Amino acid sequence: RDTINKIAAGEVIERPASVVKELVDNSIDAGATEIRIEVETGGKHSILIRDNGCGMSRADALLSYKKHATSKLTRIEDLDTVSTMGFRGEALASITAISKVEILTRPKEEITGTKMVIHGGKVLETSDAGTAPGTSIHVKDLFYNTPARRKYLKSDRNELAHITDTIMRLALANPGISFTLLSEGKQIIRNTGSNDLFKSLVNLLGPDTARSMMPLEYRTEDFEIRGYISKPEAHRGGSDQLYVFVNTRPVTSRTISTAVREGYYTKVPKGRYPVAVLALTLDPGEVDVNVHPRKAEVRFSQEKEVGNAVVRAVEKVLSEHGL
Ligand code: ADP
Ligand code: MG
Repeated sequence: RDTINKIAAGEVIERPASVVKELVDNSIDAGATEIRIEVETGGKHSILIRDNGCGMSRADALLSYKKHATSKLTRIEDLDTVSTMGFRGEALASITAISKVEILTRPKEEITGTKMVIHGGKVLETSDAGTAPGTSIHVKDLFYNTPARRKYLKSDRNELAHITDTIMRLALANPGISFTLLSEGKQIIRNTGSNDLFKSLVNLLGPDTARSMMPLEYRTEDFEIRGYISKPEAHRGGSDQLYVFVNTRPVTSRTISTAVREGYYTKVPKGRYPVAVLALTLDPGEVDVNVHPRKAEVRFSQEKEVGNAVVRAVEKVLSEHGL
C-alpha cells in the first residue's frame, strides 16, 4: 500500500514546481489574500508555503493528508461544475507520501492551532501549537524515499525556473492575491494584490513589457475574453510568451495558443513574437480541466468556437491600433 501511494504520488508530483502548484492552489481555495513561498535549492530540500486563508481545525488537519480526503466535493454531480482548483483530494496525500512535511494551521476563530509532522506518509507528531491564523506547510527532502524519481530532477536553477513560472502564472491569474516568492532568502517575485491586472503586469513582467501591451476585450454570447497583448514593435526575444487562464485557472490550451498566433500573424510579419495574457471566462460546464492529473491542458466542448473567438479578439485589438 505504501508503494502504491508512492507510485500514485509520482503521477501528481513530478518535481518541486508541482508541489508549489498544488499547495498554492490549496491556499487560493482557502481564501488566502497573502501567500508567501520560500524555497531552497530549487525546492529540492525545502519548500515553505504560508497563507492567511481559513486554516484547518484539528479534525480537518487529521483528514487532510489521507487519500481522497477533500473538503471540496460533496456530491458526485459537482464533478462537472467544480470551480475550486483542487477537488480530487490527492495532493496532500501524494506530497506527504514522498517527503517530510510539517503542517502548522489554525482557523481564525480558534485559539490554538495544530502542528502535524508527517514523514513518508507516517504521522510522527500531532500537537497543539501557537501559530497565526492560516496555514503553513513546510515540505522537506522531496523524493527522499523514491530515489528513482529524485534522479530525474534537473539542476537547482532549472527547478527554480519551473517554480518561478508556476508562481508567475498563478499570480497573473489571481491579481487580487499578494504573492511573494523567495529563493535562498532572495526575493524573486513580489506582487501586492490589487484588482488592477495592469499593476500585476508591471510587477510580474516588468514595466517595459507591461507598457508595450494593449488591452484586449472580446465577448460572444458564450464567452468573454480579456487580457493584454504586446505591440508588434515592442517585440524582444526569440519566442512568444503566452499566459492563458480559464475561469481564473492557469492552463495550457493548444487551441488558444494556435489561435493567438493565427490572429497575430494575419496582421504582423513572422519573426516577431507576442507576449500575451488572456483570461477566458465561460460556463464551467463547458470546460474539461481533468484530462490530466496535473490539470494543465484544458479542453472545451466548443473547441472551434473558442479558437475562432480568440483569433478575432487578437485581430480586433491589432486593427484598433492601426494594423
Ligand atoms: P483537494 O485540494 O483536492 O481537496 P488536497 O490534498 O490538495 O485535496 O487537500 C486536502 C484538504 O486539505 C483540502 O480539501 C482542505 O480541506 C485541506 N487543506 C489543504 N491545504 C489547505 C490550506 N492551505 N488551507 C486550508 N485547508 C487546506
Ligand atoms: Mg488541492
